[in-house]
Amino acid sequence: MATGTLSIDLDALSANWRALDQKSGAATETGAVVKADGYGLGSARVSRALARAGARRFFVAVAEEGAKVREALGRGPEIFVFGGHMAGDTEMIGDLDLIPLLNSIDQLTRHFEALPGAPFGIQLDTGMNRLGLEPEEWAAVRELALSQAPQLIMSHLASADEPDSPQNAEQLQAFRDMTDGIAVPRSLSATGGTLLGPDYHFDLTRPGIGLYGGRPFLEAQPVASLSVPVIQLRVLSPGEAVGYNATWTADGERRIATVSVGYADGVLRSLSNSGALYAEGIRCPIVGRVSMDLITVDISALDYVPVTLDLLGPGQTVDDVADAAGTIGYEILTSLGHRYTRKSIGGSQS
Ligand SMILES: *Cc1c(COP(=O)(O)O)cnc(C)c1O
Repeated sequence: MATGTLSIDLDALSANWRALDQKSGAATETGAVVKADGYGLGSARVSRALARAGARRFFVAVAEEGAKVREALGRGPEIFVFGGHMAGDTEMIGDLDLIPLLNSIDQLTRHFEALPGAPFGIQLDTGMNRLGLEPEEWAAVRELALSQAPQLIMSHLASADEPDSPQNAEQLQAFRDMTDGIAVPRSLSATGGTLLGPDYHFDLTRPGIGLYGGRPFLEAQPVASLSVPVIQLRVLSPGEAVGYNATWTADGERRIATVSVGYADGVLRSLSNSGALYAEGIRCPIVGRVSMDLITVDISALDYVPVTLDLLGPGQTVDDVADAAGTIGYEILTSLGHRYTRKSIGGSQS
């Protein structure tokens, strides 16, 4: 078998949710963001494990993702859709009991006309300029929207992963100005905001990346591990080059393993000549270009030929790989490909 094995540690996931729930404080509920197929790890297994850990409110980006999570969870847990109520979503929202976070006056109109009395939330823009009603729009529709009894009013922080950014306090103030005195549950913070402290918690926090073991939740336990098989070994003489366009040349005798994983599996091409795999704690650098299905790895530091090498595991975290690739852990996780054999660890099922 030449496919890698992606292991998803559901006990670590649950422990991360409980740790963030502790940080959210007793007066605040902790939700769970499972968009982008549970940050690439599989929204069904991830949602079920988080529900068992105690999560009752889930968040996805689009209604189609919500349908998959509803199928996994059954009736009961609330599933919010950040993208709101788009044309074509009405049946899914109504039949599957999804809660759109309405972003614009158009969406408010669509929702109230298509599904009168159906649950909804409101998304406000407090300065990120991405999604949500702007302060003037909110002022115009606030009375109407509140008369329809929203489930939640939320906004999103743009710089919560930088605790010293003045934008955090500015957005907090803007959110307060737009929502203080309203008797509807409020939510402002994802993982980063949850770590900024109680002022940012309101009634509900919405962590995503921290659940899956990524920065800025530094205490997170790693959730994903990935090992990939070695297909072939060759010994290079000094001066021989490896891979497309010969971007790496052996400066001495080198043992090069050809490994069955590539950019089609989410090993970003920017890891060419910069990333590494690990064998029992020993770093083995990726040499030459990352190809679609293969990478070449210098295993000269090993005195044996490993059956597999680890891309994620004790040797390096999702954020280590992200640093080597010049990106963020979110992109590494959500790029994980579909050829891996996926298996759950712990979670007592799935
Ligand atoms: C993705 C997202 C989250 C979760 O963010 P993390 O940084 O992964 O914790 C929360 N809220 C909104 C609106 C999002 O788009």
